Amino acid sequence: MGLEETLKQRSGGVCELCGSTDDLGVYEVAPSNKKVEEHAYICSVCKNQLENPESLDENHWHCLNDSMWSEVDGVKVIAYRVLTMLKKQDLLDMLYLEDDIKSWAEQGLFAQENKVIHRDSNGVVLSAGDTVNIIKDLEVKGAGFTAKRGTAVRNISLPQDDPEHIEGRVNGVKIMILTKYLKKG
Ligand SMILES: [Zn+2]
Repeated sequence: MGLEETLKQRSGGVCELCGSTDDLGVYEVAPSNKKVEEHAYICSVCKNQLENPESLDENHWHCLNDSMWSEVDGVKVIAYRVLTMLKKQDLLDMLYLEDDIKSWAEQGLFAQENKVIHRDSNGVVLSAGDTVNIIKDLEVKGAGFTAKRGTAVRNISLPQDDPEHIEGRVNGVKIMILTKYLKKG
């Protein structure tokens, strides 16, 4: 039986975090050794939130009141990370993790803390794939053109070593643009 089938059976066909039956998929709880118990079967709402922890919606995660009691290590680790990020100390105090599981959970948090966050000129958090608009004429050095104010830059990428710049295509040329000259579209 493949991983997805195994997880589908384990979960009973519902999101192992929130119980939703919509748009379920396999989620690898990093860092993992690809073992079955290091994966969770979760819905796209939970997945999106886990991948964009700066946008965690506290209301959605009331579901952890139940799912934190899961027998699955991967699910407990996700619960631990989300509860930590939401500063739910009362629930964390109840969530018992074996030492090795706890250190796994904390490794993920550490990666989270070091994650570079990009913000536009208004302080709005940018995500990879976003469309942004340039708010000022910018001379593109070395490319011989000006990126005009109002130009939309689609499908941006976010260099993880540099919170001040995004990368995107203008006039077909891939360039780095200062986030302070951008507004999320
Ligand atoms: Zn869910």
